[in-house]
Amino acid sequence: MSLSRRIDEMEASPTMAVDAKAKALKAAGEPVIGFGAGEPDFPTPDHIVEAAQRAVKDPASHRYTPAAGLPALREAIVAKTAADSGLQADAAGVTVTNGGKHALYNVFMALLDPGDEVLIPAPYWVSYPEQVKLAGGVPVAVATTKETGFRASVELLEQHRTSRTKLLVFVSPSNPTGAVYPADEVAAVGRWAAEHGIWVVTDEIYQHLVYGDAAFSSLPVVAPEAADRTIVVSGVAKTYAMTGWRVGWSIAPLEVAKGINKLQSQITSNVANVSQLAVVEALTGPQDAVAEMRAAFDRRRRIAVELLSAIDGVEVVEPEGAFYVFPSFEGVLGRDLAGRRVDTTLQLADVLLDEAKVAVVPGEGFGAPGYARLSYALGDDDLAEGIGRIADFLAG
Ligand code: GLU
Repeated sequence: MSLSRRIDEMEASPTMAVDAKAKALKAAGEPVIGFGAGEPDFPTPDHIVEAAQRAVKDPASHRYTPAAGLPALREAIVAKTAADSGLQADAAGVTVTNGGKHALYNVFMALLDPGDEVLIPAPYWVSYPEQVKLAGGVPVAVATTKETGFRASVELLEQHRTSRTKLLVFVSPSNPTGAVYPADEVAAVGRWAAEHGIWVVTDEIYQHLVYGDAAFSSLPVVAPEAADRTIVVSGVAKTYAMTGWRVGWSIAPLEVAKGINKLQSQITSNVANVSQLAVVEALTGPQDAVAEMRAAFDRRRRIAVELLSAIDGVEVVEPEGAFYVFPSFEGVLGRDLAGRRVDTTLQLADVLLDEAKVAVVPGEGFGAPGYARLSYALGDDDLAEGIGRIADFLAG
């Protein structure tokens, strides 16, 4: 048995692995609290589910759609993006994908040649570097620190630019740190990319989840000079509690979109027709549920920060967006916990799951050993109980 080198050399997704393990333990009756995958605990809003119920009964939606998506959905994405981000796009540039993750992979496949370097500010979401490698590119981590709020400055990006730099992955609000770049910083990054002919893929999936004084800005809007080399990636999973429906999209310059559509026509064809019709309703129907869920996430964010900050040896930078908190656990490493030596956050995550029945994602997969990610998109009671268990366990 000999797997391809590309598969041998890639890592499986730790977020999906932690989520699967926590869900399996729960199903087996273990009282596990899962801070693993970023998945809202809310059901998808009723009006969206009802649109899907209507669609599933209509034979027209039992058929293929164009590989790039239903025309009505591509138009709805353009209209919603214009309304929310101020981006004027062409529906021909939109490709509907199997979640935001698939959109990202399409982009890397469409743009990268072997050896092309891709700048990825770290801590980064686990899948960016692996997808870049699969597409033949070279991921270049740009390490940021909690002292700068985990935001990459133009100066820092410039230090990592070479003649092979093809693409920048820009993410705000960030998974896993919750960092939100102010508009002037987004504009500066966009101008820098444009000046050096660097392509940008901007992952905007957490656009609607910003809190307090933080505000989302779309890179091609605040840096229009970068727009003809920018691909926007987004989706409905986080905003509408639709993780399982698997609908995301890319909005790309037309030549790039053509390349993406060619690829998609050979690999997956269209996203499930019924899911696409549900998303038309999500984007064009009432938006009240979005604000309600955001208010709940904001409340949980504040609880998570307060409870984690109170734990000795744990340091938290307050997240301003998304639904993750990414504390440093460096202060609790290098000890024996429950009879096990814990020197890394990988070991810490294992011991927390085994002993405290709490699932967190270790920072190693995010390019940030010493940290761990907790999603606060879970119920208030579970949130308090789960962090309480971590505190009790670490207190011995
Ligand atoms: N994006 C979410 C997360 O980071 C979903 C799981 C995944 O695809 O990684 O947890």
